[in-house]
Amino acid sequence: MAELDVNAVRADFPILTREVNGRPLVYLDNAASTQTPRAVVDDIEHIYYTSKANVHRGVHCLSQEATSAMEASRERVRRFIGAESTDEIIFTRGTTEAINLVASSYGELLEDGDEIILTVMEHHSNIVPWQLLQARKKIAIKVVPILADGSLDLDTYRSLFTERTRLVAVTQVSNVLGTVNPIAEITAYAHERGALVLVDGAQGVAHLKVDVKELGADFYAFSSHKMYGPTGVGILYGRRELLEAMPPYQGGGEMIGHVSFTGTTWADLPYKFEAGTPDYVGAAALGRAIDYMEGLGIDAIAAHEHALLEYATKRMLEIPGMRIFGTAPGKSAVISFLLGDAHHYDTGILLDQLGIAVRTGHHCAQPLMETLGIEGTVRAAFAAYNTFEEVDAFIAALKRIQPLLS
Ligand SMILES: *Cc1c(COP(=O)(O)O)cnc(C)c1O
Repeated sequence: MAELDVNAVRADFPILTREVNGRPLVYLDNAASTQTPRAVVDDIEHIYYTSKANVHRGVHCLSQEATSAMEASRERVRRFIGAESTDEIIFTRGTTEAINLVASSYGELLEDGDEIILTVMEHHSNIVPWQLLQARKKIAIKVVPILADGSLDLDTYRSLFTERTRLVAVTQVSNVLGTVNPIAEITAYAHERGALVLVDGAQGVAHLKVDVKELGADFYAFSSHKMYGPTGVGILYGRRELLEAMPPYQGGGEMIGHVSFTGTTWADLPYKFEAGTPDYVGAAALGRAIDYMEGLGIDAIAAHEHALLEYATKRMLEIPGMRIFGTAPGKSAVISFLLGDAHHYDTGILLDQLGIAVRTGHHCAQPLMETLGIEGTVRAAFAAYNTFEEVDAFIAALKRIQPLLS
């Protein structure tokens, strides 16, 4: 496996040369959004300057070019995640919309008394859509707890199934703890018990090789902006027969076969779930982000991030009072921590003064915070372009602010 040439990678990201508060930017907020390489921004610019026209309906050249760019990207996504057909790849606004689509549309097929299983480490976007469904259907939501190291309690997971369990919705990687869940094992058990599995891949797809077949995912959702792509675009993968059985999510243009006041028919997949004009420029540029990641090599990215994780974790533990949340074996390069009793927000503000961008707060995972008995954490998360020197700068900053906070 080729190693990443991190300096070459950094040169692809102009934003990394800027300063913040008079210091070189150290961007460690990658679990919230990654930065975007020149190739992707150039692609967006190119489409805006040469081929911007509404997709699908056009007979004219520009519309056909815009359509081809978006459909080529759909095929890139299909190959990237190992789906069988582009009919199974639906463009959405992001992970959140993808999960809402399933909760709303697949949710329509559920019956009162049915049960779904979530985990306590889910992002709000994989909790609240199911709670909204509860306003329409009397479904029960059961929650898998975690063990002390932040891994899922799989014994309890298995014990939650009944004949009424219809769906498990689980994150591939925790955006707080970094835990990488054993998705293949989770799906195998669910399928044995006749339930489907939706996988929230928002923190997975940028860091792990994903094959939806190997994972056994019935649905898989992710966001472009967390994988070096443009904002405003995401993907829902769904197995064809499931998508075919599901009613449309939103109504409008593009998603219809024929509209009449005596009865309207739906378009074929995937368009049935793509009402209205999509972000066709962003959708096209997502394909370029995938090319970029594959050019670096997903395994090389993962190995680099893992090395940064190990180094940073070891150095952070040199600091008095350091508390790290999430120590599951094989975790992803996300470190949630608190410095003694210091408030996460104060820590984040002081780090920002030193040019270091981290995220603070509950990370859209309030039930997990409740389980951990805290209000929030500071979170540092690594991407392909982070360096060991940046980890050193981060550690030096932590050591500098630690006395101020205690
Ligand atoms: C970011 C994130 C989401 C939501 O993604 P959006 O792009 O905001 O829709 C969902 N789940 C996890 C695990 C995330 O990290």
